Amino acid sequence: MEDLKFSPATHTYILPSGVLVPSVTEILKETVLECSSEWWTEEGRDKGRLVHAACAVLDGRVCELCRGEGVIPVAPLACPVCAPTEEIQDYVEAWQLAKQELGIEVLAVEALCYDPIRNVAGTYDRKAIIGGREGILEIKTGPPSRPDWWRLQLVAYSLMAWPDAEPHVRWAVRLDEDRTYQLYTYPPSTYLEDAVVWTALTHYYKWRINNDH
Ligand SMILES: [Zn+2]
Repeated sequence: MEDLKFSPATHTYILPSGVLVPSVTEILKETVLECSSEWWTEEGRDKGRLVHAACAVLDGRVCELCRGEGVIPVAPLACPVCAPTEEIQDYVEAWQLAKQELGIEVLAVEALCYDPIRNVAGTYDRKAIIGGREGILEIKTGPPSRPDWWRLQLVAYSLMAWPDAEPHVRWAVRLDEDRTYQLYTYPPSTYLEDAVVWTALTHYYKWRINNDH
């Protein structure tokens, strides 16, 4: 969505009217993830960001950090996305392998989107085709865990990508430091139930904000 702006400094989404919009991540953090300590360690977050940025460059995006210059202008230092450490590179190779082996056709890379019905904004990782089916795909770099909430994050993005709520397939590809990957598939048959749960969470979030909880 063109008019929606994202502020990387504050991690917020802003409508042209100046109104702040909660993100998918924010709502998940404040509802289903509030007890999960593994969710956002600073280290994991930084690593995840670098991996995501490097995978986006692999998929044809201009580097978000150096804008394709190869160095960060302020320092100047070599760009950690374009000249990644071996650790980051291992994850990127896992993504490359996943793309090859699963035949992932990338349709969109890190697209900003907005759901006016639920008043939520976000950036999904990929719109893609796998095995002839079109869907939303998230790249994951965290430790193996029961990814219960991934399906909710994916349905939130899917509702933005296809606002008519037509059920689409959802995938999470978990990249590992040993250059392997795992594919999690959430089929269209589970879409509606997850969409209902997600919608309920957005209402619960709003209720908590309005009632100061
Ligand atoms: Zn760069």
